[in-house]
Amino acid sequence: MAGQRKIIILGAGASIGSKRYPIKSSLNEVRNRMPSADNFFYDLFKTNKTDNRSSGFLNFLGLTYESLNDLIIRAWSINENGFNPNEWIGVNIEEVMTFFEAGSNMSPSGSNEQKMYKKAQEYILDFLYPFMPMISDEQHCEYLMKVFLDLERADSIFSYNWDTIADYTLEKIKSSQLRNYSKLLKNDNIDPKAYRNQGLLLKLHGSFNWMVCQNTKCECYNKIRDPFRKNTYKLLKIHELWKCTNCGGLKLKPQIIPPVSNKMIHQNSFLKNQWLIAREKLLDVTELVFIGYSFPQTDYYSEWLFRQLNFIEEGADIKITVVNPEFGKRGSPITKRYKTIFKGRKIESFKTLKDYAS
Ligand SMILES: [Zn+2]
Repeated sequence: MAGQRKIIILGAGASIGSKRYPIKSSLNEVRNRMPSADNFFYDLFKTNKTDNRSSGFLNFLGLTYESLNDLIIRAWSINENGFNPNEWIGVNIEEVMTFFEAGSNMSPSGSNEQKMYKKAQEYILDFLYPFMPMISDEQHCEYLMKVFLDLERADSIFSYNWDTIADYTLEKIKSSQLRNYSKLLKNDNIDPKAYRNQGLLLKLHGSFNWMVCQNTKCECYNKIRDPFRKNTYKLLKIHELWKCTNCGGLKLKPQIIPPVSNKMIHQNSFLKNQWLIAREKLLDVTELVFIGYSFPQTDYYSEWLFRQLNFIEEGADIKITVVNPEFGKRGSPITKRYKTIFKGRKIESFKTLKDYAS
């Protein structure tokens, strides 16, 4: 086996616990935390105190996508038309998306009911983009930077996050993992085995800056455009991604996999290749560090991926670290899932990314 190989796995908690810099816009100021999945809307609508305004609550969804807001309010029995923040506690974004998916599968084909659910699925993604990437655009995380500075050339990062915090952090330290990720995005003919010894970033659920042109007549139709400035390893800013460089059109969508739509992984060859590269990397891994990842039950591809370790003979001595405030709590479902997937293995844990980084 070729020396020590570390893989850092980033879940939503890595973004939630991040310490982001620089704070440039007022949007950065009023929203310095990324929302959690569990209290997504509550976290998103809550605004911080700044020099010019007191802390408050703004239902951005009700202001921009009224019909979507109304549908969630009815299904989750939210009172006061959604204008009381506490009513949104516990409304989980993944459960909302699952509800829409189930609704569109269960209602009669072509019915108004099905149309409503399909619209809701479309609108929720339209709402998340560009709102979510704008919150963290061009920001890196001070804690992740410490973690990434410790990486060796053949170490890798698997991210489940759509946001670009890890990307910008890698750019900040001029990491070879980002350069290799950039080359991967430009490669039209990927052989997953060729990446086994190459440390890189993989974004397993897609990314807010992987733009796909929706113009059927464009040469770039349905192709992911790599988010780097030409001939450099500098990431493009969010507003530089809004126009197709080929046809000049503005009909672009980010390539992201909603948590409930795992089937999109095997239908999309680029995403599938990323998962196959991830599996190659697990063949040589000696250390796994999970930051803010909770093995959600809908993520069955992820469970498949990490159970691969049980097929490797040398896989017995892998060091596993879990950074998650819920891990270790009595009766916590997260602890249970980790202990089931990594049965018989020793797991070390940290409560926060800050603790782990120091
Ligand atoms: Zn185009």
